[in-house]
Amino acid sequence: MGRGILFVVSAPAGCGKDTILEKALAKDINLCYSVSATTRTMRPGETDGISYYFKSRKEFEQMIADGELLEHTEYCGNYYGTPKDTVEETLNGGKNVVLKIEIEGAGNIKKLIPESVLIFILPPSMEELSRRLHKRGTEDEETICKRLKQAETEIACAEKYDYVIVNGDIDEAVENFVSVIKAESFKTVRNKDLILKIKANNM
Ligand code: 5GP
Repeated sequence: MGRGILFVVSAPAGCGKDTILEKALAKDINLCYSVSATTRTMRPGETDGISYYFKSRKEFEQMIADGELLEHTEYCGNYYGTPKDTVEETLNGGKNVVLKIEIEGAGNIKKLIPESVLIFILPPSMEELSRRLHKRGTEDEETICKRLKQAETEIACAEKYDYVIVNGDIDEAVENFVSVIKAESFKTVRNKDLILKIKANNM
């Protein structure tokens, strides 16, 4: 069994990355979600250990000091980080892992693990993103404006990613996401052992 592939997904708020991941993870594509640690407060509907590992700043700083995180960042005044051991163990077990992290973390992962695969989710247009953020009705006008500005900055970094997926139609976006996961696992460079094994069996 070969080592799993590390996938990283980023997207501006309102682009539907949670839904895409949720639907893709429900399919049988050998993909595991890596739960991050954070110091932000739990939102309604979230569960400790499933949505995030919710930590105090002291606990999080101890995790950094103990080298427990693969990457970490401070985003909107809170710490976020990827637990190292779980990711390593899952990849070593031959399973693919997906991280749902922001752009700075994604860049750090690519530097650390060049064979990781970065996927950026785009809205069909800025107008549509604005419409979706308004429709959600969870934020006031000022916050929506901030989110749209932030989205523009984040989208400017999309070119650094290996793949971009436009979330216009959700089912199509999920299908395209799954295609990327599958295509990456068929790459020759990831299947050298398989080629050797089949060659040896045929001799
Ligand atoms: P939220 O607070 O809305 O759940 O997440 C805020 C941002 O932090 C999102 O862009 C999310 O993808 C990102 N994020 C979540 N976990 C991690 C992590 O472990 N590392 C980094 N760098 N970003 C993360």
